Amino acid sequence: MAEHYDLVIRGGTCVLPWGEARTDVGVHGGRIAALDAASGCSADETMDATGLHVLPGLIDPHVHLRDPGDPAVETIPTGTRAAVLGGLAAVFDMPNTTPSITGPERLAWKQDYVERVAWCDMGLYVGAAKTNIPALAELELGQGVCGVKVFAGSSTGDLLVEDDATLEAVMRSGRRRISYHSEDEYRLQARRPLFNSGDPYASHAVWRDVECAFLGTRRLMALARKTGRPAHILHVSTAEELDYLAGYRDVATVELLVNHLTQVAPEVYDQLGGFGVMNPPIRDRRHFEAAWAAVRDGTADTIGSDHAPHARAAKERPWPECAAGLTGVQTLVPIMLDHVNAGRLSLGRMVDLMCAGPARVYGAVGKGRLAVGYDADVTLVDLKRRRTIENGWIASPCGWTPFDGMQVTGWPAATIVRGRVVMRDDEVLGEPAGKLVQFRG
Ligand SMILES: [Zn+2]
Repeated sequence: MAEHYDLVIRGGTCVLPWGEARTDVGVHGGRIAALDAASGCSADETMDATGLHVLPGLIDPHVHLRDPGDPAVETIPTGTRAAVLGGLAAVFDMPNTTPSITGPERLAWKQDYVERVAWCDMGLYVGAAKTNIPALAELELGQGVCGVKVFAGSSTGDLLVEDDATLEAVMRSGRRRISYHSEDEYRLQARRPLFNSGDPYASHAVWRDVECAFLGTRRLMALARKTGRPAHILHVSTAEELDYLAGYRDVATVELLVNHLTQVAPEVYDQLGGFGVMNPPIRDRRHFEAAWAAVRDGTADTIGSDHAPHARAAKERPWPECAAGLTGVQTLVPIMLDHVNAGRLSLGRMVDLMCAGPARVYGAVGKGRLAVGYDADVTLVDLKRRRTIENGWIASPCGWTPFDGMQVTGWPAATIVRGRVVMRDDEVLGEPAGKLVQFRG
């Protein structure tokens, strides 16, 4: 007897964990039910994926959706809408909102809110602060929590744990992998008086120099080895750290940002001014080349956007008063596909970095691969489609992207979350039905 599926995706080239295959994916009850759905099977809905590549639902493990915060900049509804338009099936959202997510009440509010308004699935970080260390062990096991986030160097918001004694106490508080913003706060503060308001935007990478990041990472690695607590170093931005972290794979995993793989200093500051300012900074070509080497040699585990929107007015201020952080959740997939087309990485490695990588690093259950029994999260991509990224396409209310005007080859054609088609041909479909991602405790 022929099988019946809720959805069959026909005729596409599937990127399976063991290689590419032309096969039909059958979906039942929100999960992948078959990777070889027979031609005679019936289905409520059939998607023709001829000419397209069928990827596991792509994940951006590093976004700041600013909710609660300023709805004129971003919210969870708008940011997850941007995510599905950009081909993402899940995002992991940072805790440095206003107020930040550091206690059980605010986490409970967010857990409930997400499942009412999000377009894609979400993981939630909880923030470490000097005042909530005793609560972290329980918070990190909360529903949908992808891990604890530590700002060891200051960025947007008021979360900061900069000294070794407090960092060690955070590491001894629980056992899941902790994600770090690694810049040495003391060096950042000591160097600040060397610069003046109105200095060139390129000063950002001089102030927050290589040693700020590298010193921060050396300190964290010493403490991670001492405590045995696994560490995920977010947005690694220097050749020095990448070389160093390759020697710490017993405790460390590594995130790269698409920006550090796409933009270089000083050109980015000449072209974009404050719209090129982020933390850690976009640096010169030597670090750009090192980031690509880390993609090729396996040092990098995940790639994120660090989507961190701000109002235009906040970005247009002179340096260093301009806000640090760039939008990116909607442009991550098109830009990575363009890099695939340019031969900088294979589609298989992109899937490793954006699906298997986040699932492995954070312990996401049922995500990250096309396999029977896994969530039917699928991103269909058209590798040949040429498009220009434009501010007008951006769904985030702040309305700008640092990649405005960039022509790319490769575009997301559809986003499917647990068997529901939520985006097809640049159109968002249905109602928000995102859920919290489940993580291994
Ligand atoms: Zn960030």
